[in-house]
Parts: sequence; structure tokens; C-alpha cells
Amino acid sequence: MVREILVWPHPLLKQKARPVENVDDETRALIKDLFESMYAADGVGLAAPQVGVLKNVIVLDTTPRQPESHAVAMVNPEILTLDGKTVYKEGCLSVPGEAEDVERATAVTVRYLDEQGEQQTLAAEGLLAIAIQHETDHLRGVMFVDYISSLKRELIRKRMKKMQAAMAEDKADAEADAKTKGQGTERRRAEA
Ligand SMILES: [Zn+2]
Repeated sequence: MVREILVWPHPLLKQKARPVENVDDETRALIKDLFESMYAADGVGLAAPQVGVLKNVIVLDTTPRQPESHAVAMVNPEILTLDGKTVYKEGCLSVPGEAEDVERATAVTVRYLDEQGEQQTLAAEGLLAIAIQHETDHLRGVMFVDYISSLKRELIRKRMKKMQAAMAEDKADAEADAKTKGQGTERRRAEA
């Protein structure tokens, strides 16, 4: 099921997520939803808090831009090592249409539980390494906008508010249209 992705500065995006105690069917259902929501939004990563679930679960798929990588779901991911430095223009599905330079490590090793609850360790570089750092940040309530200047962050905040106001207005218009159409149908019926 594709879930709604929360838009920053939604308060849930600033909360710390909790570790998953058992990787069970509920966890696997959440992973499936995260993958579906990420693909529907054309993203390379998604963290559970972005769909309002405060659990330490992330999904990643950087294969479109890094064919040697593979799609992966991580439960309770923990970054063990960070090496090198790189600057990458990052975006986020919770901050649609925005991208800013963020400094990250070039390579990471991460330990996590897979969908069967088995412990795994992965060494990643390039976009996958950046995405792992970005998604694990979400689990502690940190967003890429927290790394940029406060001036840029405030401009993005204004654009997000404006975008959400426009979306709310569109929704209200659509609802009003549906209501008018409904009344029209009734009137026509009464006339017939
Ligand atoms: Zn993000």
C-alpha cells in the first residue's frame, strides 16, 4: 500500500524512532509499504518516520543510478564506520522539489537486521552510502535541511508552507466541485 509521505516541518519528522524488537509480519508489511511508497514517489530511499511510523526501519534502492548496488531493507540500522568526505546535492521525499549540498562520508559500513531478522553487515560507497546516512538521520529526527544555513532553511520552510496551502486549496476545490456535481445530478433527477 502506498502511504502518504509527511512533508517537512511535520512534527513527527523531528521525533526519534524506536528500535524494532521482533522482525515479524507487521515489520515485513511496513517494509513492503515503504518500498511501494518510495517507488511511487520516484525516490532512492525512505525511512518509516516519513510515513508517520516511529520505528527504526529504512528502505533503499539506488540501482537506477548505481547499477552495482541492490535494493535493501534495513531494520535497526547502525552505522559502524564512516570514511572520507564528499559533498552531494541531496533531496528528500519529505521536502519535495528542494535540493542542497550536504557533506557526507564517502563510504560507510552499516549493521542491520534483514527482513528475516538475520543480522547483516554491508559496506557501501557512492550514492548508497549517502542514502544510508540520509535515511538513518531520519530515524533520529534529523533532516538534510538541518545541515544547511538557517537562511536557506527558512526559505525552504516558506516554500513548503506555500505548497501545502496550495495543495489544501486544490483539495477543497475538488471537494466543492464534487458537492456541486452531486447537487446538479439531484436537480436533474427532480426535473426529469
Ligand atoms: Zn529524506
